[in-house]
Amino acid sequence: MERDWRCSNCNTLLGKWHDGGLDIRYKELKVLVDGKVCIECRKCLTINKTESGEDPATVAGK
Ligand SMILES: [Zn+2]
Repeated sequence: MERDWRCSNCNTLLGKWHDGGLDIRYKELKVLVDGKVCIECRKCLTINKTESGEDPATVAGK
């Protein structure tokens, strides 16, 4: 199952959730993350934080 991880401010796609992990795409970079993540949105510069062990549904507030 795959779910989008989007910026909490402008809804820009930051990465994709897979089972047990977060796949981040930033320009040509692709990273599979396991643990805490902190990313600056490339559009609005909002800092987005999440943790790969958390349920994305509760993390991705709007
Ligand atoms: Zn943003």
